[in-house]
Amino acid sequence: MSALDQELGRRLAALRGKGLHRELRRITSPQSARVESEGKTLLNFSSNDYLGLANEPSIADAAIEAVRRFGAGAGASRLICGSLTPHHELEEALAQFKGTQAALSFSTGYAAAIGTICALLGKEDVLVLDKLVHASIVDAARLCGAKLRIFSHNDLGCLEDILKWARNRGVNATGSEKEPARILVATESVFSMEGDHAPLAQIIELKDKYGAWLMVDEAHATGLYGPKRRGLAEEYDVAERIEIQMGTLGKAMGAAGGYICGSRVLIDYLINRARSFIFSTAPAPAAAAAATAGVRFVQSEAGEHRRQILWRRVAELAAARAVGKPNVESCTDRSAIVPIIIGSESRAVEVAALSLDAGILIPAIRYPTVPRGSARLRLTLTAAHTNADIHVLAEVLRELQLIPNSFLLAQPVDASPG
Ligand SMILES: *Cc1c(COP(=O)(O)O)cnc(C)c1O
Repeated sequence: MSALDQELGRRLAALRGKGLHRELRRITSPQSARVESEGKTLLNFSSNDYLGLANEPSIADAAIEAVRRFGAGAGASRLICGSLTPHHELEEALAQFKGTQAALSFSTGYAAAIGTICALLGKEDVLVLDKLVHASIVDAARLCGAKLRIFSHNDLGCLEDILKWARNRGVNATGSEKEPARILVATESVFSMEGDHAPLAQIIELKDKYGAWLMVDEAHATGLYGPKRRGLAEEYDVAERIEIQMGTLGKAMGAAGGYICGSRVLIDYLINRARSFIFSTAPAPAAAAAATAGVRFVQSEAGEHRRQILWRRVAELAAARAVGKPNVESCTDRSAIVPIIIGSESRAVEVAALSLDAGILIPAIRYPTVPRGSARLRLTLTAAHTNADIHVLAEVLRELQLIPNSFLLAQPVDASPG
């Protein structure tokens, strides 16, 4: 065994000791409400495929068609070898969908966050983050070198204190203005591990008052909220006041990739300055074409239908959880993400293993994805689930004593996802 392997072996053993070790589970079927693993069918409450589009035939066909017309590879970065039509079609579709002047697609949402934040901010600037933002934004914060300030989750008072401080940095002791500090506030709209909503309207009031810019990550909201399913910013009617709208194409859109939507100037600037865009081979044409088809599906009547099914499933599970609930975190905002807080890392792993034995796939989410001691089962519902699936889930949660005995669940009304 090499010295490296010995060292890494020790580190892995330490992770195991803390209940923080992770392993891949091989799935031999497409992603959907049911997946096959080790010859067993599992009911899947773990994916972010909220509208059940990951295995949607029309989206898969768009990818196949793009392979036929454009091949498998993109050749190089889009600034080097020319920029393929499927990428432009995706960005036109995104800008139209989100109602912005322009859009830029990235290989992932992670790359979009890193590239954008690092392009916008330098050492002299201030980045202000909600405590619970996604790792992609946290990593961007480290990489960009800006002064980092964290506000308690959704805490507007704390945010305002930080903004006051940041604005005053731009003023000398004599009261004369220095170069004004550039301040960027970044938050998610629907939080990935809590399922709750950011108070976007109030955050916007504050960022305007203190002259900050705002970036909102709609990874878990695009496709689910708003009259046109653009996201939570549309639902709250504030999208036009957000400078930088970010999201992923890999969740409700059923494909892969990330995006930034905003002004034409913002997008032109990112094309020039976002390193994760510039120094990375363009996504495969098939990925861009699938994402375009996903965006179009979400906008269609079928997309609205899927959303309605999703909210029906969410209401059905909420009804099952509503009767007293010592172990269940309350969730006031409507969300397809339902965390069941366990606390201990090892206990969360145990409970996840028990639900797996019962044929249900729910991930135990642990540090560093969530803070230490707040390990949880993170349930996600999708439009591909049926009322009967929710019934089975509630039954298993009850057996694991994660919801009370005395729940009443409406009998299955429709067994098909529609
Ligand atoms: C998943 C996720 C991302 C990253 O998107 P990918 O396309 O998966 O890289 C960014 N932000 C949030 C909140 C996410 O949940």
